[in-house]
Amino acid sequence: MPELAPYAVDDGNSRGRAHAEPRPKARSEFQRDRDRIVHSTAFRRLEYKTQVFVNHEGDLFRTRLTHSIEVAQIARSVARSLQLNDDLAEAIALAHDLGHTPFGHAGQDALNECMQGHGGFEHNLQSLRIVDRLEERYGAFDGLNLMFETREGILKHCSPARAREIGDLGRRFLEGRRPSLEAQICNLADEIAYNNHDVDDGLRSGVLTLEQLQEITLFARHAAEVDAEFPHIAGRRRVHETIRRMIDAQVTDLLAESARRIVAAAPASLADVNNAPELIGFTEAMKQENHALKSFLREHLYRHFEVLRMTAKARRVIQDLFGAFVADQRLLPPQYQAMAAAASIQRATADYIAGMTDRYSMKEHRRLFAVSEF
Ligand code: MG
Repeated sequence: MPELAPYAVDDGNSRGRAHAEPRPKARSEFQRDRDRIVHSTAFRRLEYKTQVFVNHEGDLFRTRLTHSIEVAQIARSVARSLQLNDDLAEAIALAHDLGHTPFGHAGQDALNECMQGHGGFEHNLQSLRIVDRLEERYGAFDGLNLMFETREGILKHCSPARAREIGDLGRRFLEGRRPSLEAQICNLADEIAYNNHDVDDGLRSGVLTLEQLQEITLFARHAAEVDAEFPHIAGRRRVHETIRRMIDAQVTDLLAESARRIVAAAPASLADVNNAPELIGFTEAMKQENHALKSFLREHLYRHFEVLRMTAKARRVIQDLFGAFVADQRLLPPQYQAMAAAASIQRATADYIAGMTDRYSMKEHRRLFAVSEF
């Protein structure tokens, strides 16, 4: 293993776990975190949760699980190349979407509306809640008892009010400090992964067309390169060869620009990283190209009528389920009734619904509302 930079997170400079545990025998602390995440129930549920296209619409579209694996793969390569802790980057990436509801952002928005006046719902905070409290796997503690820096990386953003409530982990949002470079990498690896796989899935579904994508310079430039190099290439192979080059260009840009910023800031320790401006980032030119791609996807994919139909349906499923459980908590499974007694019926219901896969939420909806099914 290449030597880590002095400002990388490692077992020695980490702020450790909330509950002290013996050191792992044959792994680093962050490998242990990664393994705990992979073994968690919430992680397995990602397989049946929507990224953009609902899970049952087609077998080849990204799910939250394959998205998370793509983010981890990009984050690990970037971290290793910059002599940072790739085990930490992998752990954060695999956990970053654990808190997502069924039906992607549509589900989270619907649940957040239901939770107005009861503390709201935000998938990023829910990811932290899962690893800190909701997973039931260990005798000695609730949650996964992850290392501070893994939890810090999972919590990407946080309102000042919420930051005040969550203690140590919230402090950086109030004091304007940055998380580790490994966490910063995961944010951008997430962006690289979804911008590119959404182009791929959008084309595969027929919602996006190659003609439309010609207006995106990042796509058009690499497609032209592919056509020049392989004059007879066509169909899926041309799309894949183009997207592969787009990812490579974004990762290469990110590596060069981040290395440049690190040299300029010359951090000597993890504390220097926390107090420096963001050191992981794209060049201004690539940032603008990414922005154009993102706006394009928002307009042509995320707001396409077929995607919006799914959004509308997801909203109804989640509102109906939430309403039914809050009106009569005896309809909740017993473990959630106990959680309602300990917290509130709304929070227990939100935890239950957020944990559902797409198809489980539809099944629950049928069980509660379809007169033909019991
Ligand atoms: Mg993500």
